[in-house]
Amino acid sequence: MALDPTTMLTLSIALAAAASLYLAIEWSNVREPSLVFWSAGFATISIGCILALLRNSGIVVIGVWFANGLLIMAHWLFLVGVARFTAARLSRGWLLIIPIWLAMLFLPAEPWWSKVMLGIQSSIITVLTLRASFLLRPHGKTISVGAGQLRYVLLIHGLFYLCKVITAVIPGTLIDLASLRGEIIQISLVEGAMAIMLIALSMTGSERYRREKRIERLAARDPLTALYNRRALEVRAPRLLEDVSPSRPGALLLIDIDNFKSVNDLYGHTAGDRLLITLSEMIRSILPDGSLAARLGGDEFVLLLSNASSEHIHELGSTLRERFQVAAAQGFSTPEAVTLSIGASLFDQPPASLGALIEQGDAALYESKRGGRDSIRLVDRTLATDEPVQAP
Ligand code: GH3
Ligand code: MG
Repeated sequence: MALDPTTMLTLSIALAAAASLYLAIEWSNVREPSLVFWSAGFATISIGCILALLRNSGIVVIGVWFANGLLIMAHWLFLVGVARFTAARLSRGWLLIIPIWLAMLFLPAEPWWSKVMLGIQSSIITVLTLRASFLLRPHGKTISVGAGQLRYVLLIHGLFYLCKVITAVIPGTLIDLASLRGEIIQISLVEGAMAIMLIALSMTGSERYRREKRIERLAARDPLTALYNRRALEVRAPRLLEDVSPSRPGALLLIDIDNFKSVNDLYGHTAGDRLLITLSEMIRSILPDGSLAARLGGDEFVLLLSNASSEHIHELGSTLRERFQVAAAQGFSTPEAVTLSIGASLFDQPPASLGALIEQGDAALYESKRGGRDSIRLVDRTLATDEPVQAP
């Protein structure tokens, strides 16, 4: 198969058009703005390559100057897309590229104009591409893992263009843009086709990975309080529970709001929601490192602690109860006080399952409710006796 410039350009037209269409379809499904810029970038490359074919007919301004200008614009669109993807702001200085390129139109038709044009065009593309790759540097887990591939593809593409700049300044290298002659132009056409495929693939990959992570995060959270939901707790709890030992006891605190229904009945469901959010924020603020907190449903919350002690549980429970009682009393006047009942369990052996542990907490919570509410009931399973310890 002959890799002549016309064949390579035709291949690039088809690949870039397919990439543009693919990214546009992806955008129509997920509406991520970066996909629009990237799709437009590939459409621009496709048009640029069509125009580049015209240089065979001697139409140099459109076939060379205009076509190469479109290639710059495509890389500028890629950069804007990456900036949207990473939520970075681009300086207006990038618009200087336009007058620089316009000036190329007035280059005298001397034998060296091909080299100057290739040198300047490649410099601009190098800067645009390396800047885009730099924006994708690790600064947040999602970006670092999801967009790593795109970052490296753009880096290699940018470095390739840097080699083109160097080639253009080396005296004696043959570069004839008008007839697509010169080794670097031939290599560039092959690299171009490869780059279209790899860049388009890693662009969709980056967006998909980020979307998957976002969906995963949403699926793990209770939509009202943004604490973990029961399913997420079930996934995360085993790691914490496996480490439980007599030297590192674990604890579970099951928390239920007392008389919560009266807030809903007297002040409305939205006020009730606000109180649930207040409690979740309090939980977050007192949660020790390495612990887990989740909303099991309704007005029931759970804390899982590692390296706990009965003093620690009482301290945590009292702080939470006191703060919550003050906040509830300030916000709502109800016939019966809106307080917290807590059923806790301290254990020094990994439990049979999270479900079994919650059942123990539930029994303690029931005792707390039965004893008049607004209290913590702790079952200390690290003691030889199984006597529940109650704190008012
Ligand atoms: P107790 O003192 O025995 O705990 O009774 P309670 O009034 O707190 O009511 P209970 O715990 O038995 O039931 C919880 C109530 O919380 C039932 C339901 O109406 C309400 N609820 C459940 N989910 C939500 C929610 O997302 N928002 C609001 N505002 N209310 C909810
Ligand atoms: Mg309740």
